[in-house]
Amino acid sequence: MDDATARMRLESMLEELDRSIGVLTGDPVSVRERSAADAGSDLTDADRNRAMIDVATRQRKAVLAALKRLDEGGYGRCVDCGKIVPEGRLEARPEAARCVQCQARVERRRY
Ligand SMILES: [Zn+2]
Repeated sequence: MDDATARMRLESMLEELDRSIGVLTGDPVSVRERSAADAGSDLTDADRNRAMIDVATRQRKAVLAALKRLDEGGYGRCVDCGKIVPEGRLEARPEAARCVQCQARVERRRY
């Protein structure tokens, strides 16, 4: 994937995330409707809403960081070990900052 394609995909992800975050933070009705459609969970609307905002905000940060790496020329390299992040991984997740190995290590640390 070349830089122009990566930038295009990241920018459209950013737009999408901004829209979701706007809906989640500004439109409680649509959140209620979504929750009703997904009955059976013991999460309250507020919890679910917060969790979704949390995920979207984290992803937005990752997308912004990836755009910054594009500007600075470090895009496509793992931020931890500096190795090239495999093409297939970037295709699936253009905002990926780490290779699979380093990402796995980070996630093990988190849990
Ligand atoms: Zn790595």
